Amino acid sequence: MSVVTRFAPSPTGRLHVGNIRTALHNFLFARKNGGTFILRIDDTDRERSTAEFDEAIRADLQWLGLSTDKVVRQSERFDLYEREFERLNAAGRVYACYETQEELELRRKVLLGRGLPPVYERKPADAPVPEGRAPHWRFRLDHDSAIAWSDLIRGEQKFDPTLLSDPVVRREDGSWLYLLPSVIDDIDLAITHVVRGEDHVSNSAVQIQMFAALGSEPPEFAHEALLVAAEGKLSKRFGSYGAEHLRQEGVEPMALLDVLARIGTSQPVEPLASLDELAATFDFSTFGRAPAHFDPHDVELINARLLHHVDYAAVADRLPGEATEEDWLALRGNLERLGDFGAWFAVLHGEIDPPELAHDERLLVKDAAAVAEGLDWSAEPWRALTGELKQATGRKGRELFHPLRLALTGRDSGPEMAPLLAAMGKDRAIRRLEAAASR
Ligand code: GLU
Repeated sequence: MSVVTRFAPSPTGRLHVGNIRTALHNFLFARKNGGTFILRIDDTDRERSTAEFDEAIRADLQWLGLSTDKVVRQSERFDLYEREFERLNAAGRVYACYETQEELELRRKVLLGRGLPPVYERKPADAPVPEGRAPHWRFRLDHDSAIAWSDLIRGEQKFDPTLLSDPVVRREDGSWLYLLPSVIDDIDLAITHVVRGEDHVSNSAVQIQMFAALGSEPPEFAHEALLVAAEGKLSKRFGSYGAEHLRQEGVEPMALLDVLARIGTSQPVEPLASLDELAATFDFSTFGRAPAHFDPHDVELINARLLHHVDYAAVADRLPGEATEEDWLALRGNLERLGDFGAWFAVLHGEIDPPELAHDERLLVKDAAAVAEGLDWSAEPWRALTGELKQATGRKGRELFHPLRLALTGRDSGPEMAPLLAAMGKDRAIRRLEAAASR
C-alpha cells in the first residue's frame, strides 16, 4: 500500500505554528514511506475563504520546503459531493430536517435539565413537514454498529453511536459543512492516513460511519495532542506566529520545522539540516498524549545551532555578493540569525574605529603589528601571532587575546579569532593593529 496523506487547511487565515505542525507531520510521514502528500484547500465556506489566503498558504508551504505532490480545492469538487450525497439519500443515510436553531437549543436544554445526554432526537418518518421551510440535512448514524479504531497516537478508541447526534452535513441553502465533503475527498483521493489535531477525534467517529456508508474502508487515523504555548491556548498568543513572521525575522525554516517535528514526542529537538533527516526518524509511536509545549525561544536556539554548521553552498545566495566561503566559515559560528552576517562581514572587511587601549595594551598591539609583518598568512596566522607574542611578552590568556581582539575587530567579543584573522587578510590586520597602537 502506498501512503497518501493530506493537509487540509481552510483559506480563512494564514498558517500558524499549530497548522504548520500538522502539515509537517503529514509531509514527513508521506516522505518517510515514499508516499504522496496532498494539499487540500477546504474552501467550501465561500464567504470566509479568500484567494489571497489560498495563495499565502501555498507560498508558506513552499518557503518551508513542504512541497506538495498535488493540490485540490473543495470548491472545484461540488459535483462530486452532489453525486455522493444523492447516493446516501437514495440509501436513506441522509435525511431532511426542519428544526430551527431555537427549537434545537430548547430541546437540548430540556434533555440536559433531565440529566439526559443532549443527543439529537430523530423525528418519525411521517412527521409533518413545515410549510415554506427549506430543509437542512443530517447523516443517519448506524446505531447498531459500534465505532472503534486503533489510533496511531491515541491507541484504541471507542464511541457508542447512540450517544452521538446525527451530524448536520448540509445547510438549508445547499452549502456543505466540513464533515461529509472531507470523507468524500479522502475516498476519492485514496488517502491512507489522516493526521490531524485531537480536536477532530469525535469528527473521526462519525466520519468512520460515513466511509462505511459510502462503501469504503476508513483510512488510518493519527490524532495529535494539541500545541500550547507556555501561557495557554496557542491561537491567542501565536495566531500571528507563523511562516510570514519567521521569514520577516530571517529565521531558517528548518529551525521551526526541527522544533515542530519533535515537541510533544519522546525524541529530542535537534538541529537537523534537512527534511529527509527528520523524515527518517519520524515515528507516531514516539508521540505523547499530553499537549506539546511550544516556545519560540527553542526556535531561536535551533536556528543558531543550524547556522553554526551550515555549508557555504546552502546559504551563498543569501549572503552579500562579495562574501567568500572563507568569510562564511569564519563568521558562521557566531551567528544567531543569518541576517547578522552582514554586520560581521562589515567588521571583517570594512572600516572599524580603532578602540581605546591602555598603555601596556598599545605596546602589545604595536609588537603584534611588527610580528604580523613577518608571518605567512596562509599558515594559521593567529596561532603564529599569539605564540610569538606569548614568548616575547610573557602575556597569556585573556591578557593576551583581549587587546588583540579589540584592536583587530573593534569589538569586545565575537567569532573565533583564528579563522577571522585568516579571512581578514594580512594588510588589513596590520593596519588595524597599527591604528590601535597609535591612537
Ligand atoms: N479543514 C479542516 C480543519 O482545518 C480539516 C480537518 C481535517 O484534516 O480533516 O480543521
